[in-house]
Amino acid sequence: MRRYEALDAILRDTRDLLRGRYGGDRRSFQERVEKLMTVMGTGEDAAEDDRKVPSGSDLRREGNPAPATADQDAPDHLPHPFAPYQDLNVATRQERLDALAAAVRQCTRCSLAMGRTMSVTGEGVLDPLVMFVGEGPGGDEDRSGRPFVGAAGQYLDRWLSAIGLSRETNAYITNIVKCRPPNNRDPQPEESDACAPWLMEQIALVRPRMIVTLGRISTRILTGTTQGITRIHGTFYSWRSIPLVPTFHPSAVLRRDEWRRPVWEDLKTIRNWLVDNAGHRPPEDFRG
Ligand code: SF4
Repeated sequence: MRRYEALDAILRDTRDLLRGRYGGDRRSFQERVEKLMTVMGTGEDAAEDDRKVPSGSDLRREGNPAPATADQDAPDHLPHPFAPYQDLNVATRQERLDALAAAVRQCTRCSLAMGRTMSVTGEGVLDPLVMFVGEGPGGDEDRSGRPFVGAAGQYLDRWLSAIGLSRETNAYITNIVKCRPPNNRDPQPEESDACAPWLMEQIALVRPRMIVTLGRISTRILTGTTQGITRIHGTFYSWRSIPLVPTFHPSAVLRRDEWRRPVWEDLKTIRNWLVDNAGHRPPEDFRG
């Protein structure tokens, strides 16, 4: 069994367990997951796997607890999202992330591959304070292969700078889908499902302290909530024990002046959590 197959099996079983369809008891589930994680940790077939497109898993299949309540930790029987690569050092994780980006460039798992100029995997540092997750690349990103580089990206960089973050030093930026949807439409469920394994592996390799979802699409997919972003922005969720805070998408805020103030309130919330929980030292002149 290869790493991706083991990951897929863990996610399938987790989904079944959460839905009450798992055939065994909790102890047998834990034993099975431990065996599968051993397979994932061996690194056997790693070179081949890093070129292989994963199949079959997505964020819903992996048993995303989709917490509807703030500060809810993942159940303790779920593997921690960093577990697949917990023994890898920084250099090896970076190699794996580079291999993942190479695999994404070849990916044809969904129809978005047909229209892309370049895939956009992500950008930033390992072990960031925050991983920002948008919905998908736009035109500028499709041409450059980099996330959030157009007007919305420059605006996002200003948000980050205001609370002492940057993609060069302590943040990582990515999207739910890695290829541009035509005319910047929302990603379709089959597209986000097909692309989800890439994001899951990114999270495991990058190891963010916090996730911030940008806009309703990534928020809905990672939290499972059906509530609108105007209702839930700035509240705390948990994606399998990683704190997650939804906020608005910068391109939407550029079109809606009335959302600027709520965004700054969200940034204050994020900043305060990072100060209290991650030893973050943001600029003193922050004006939320
Ligand atoms: S959007 Fe994701 S799944 Fe679809 S082709 Fe691009 S990388 Fe592959």
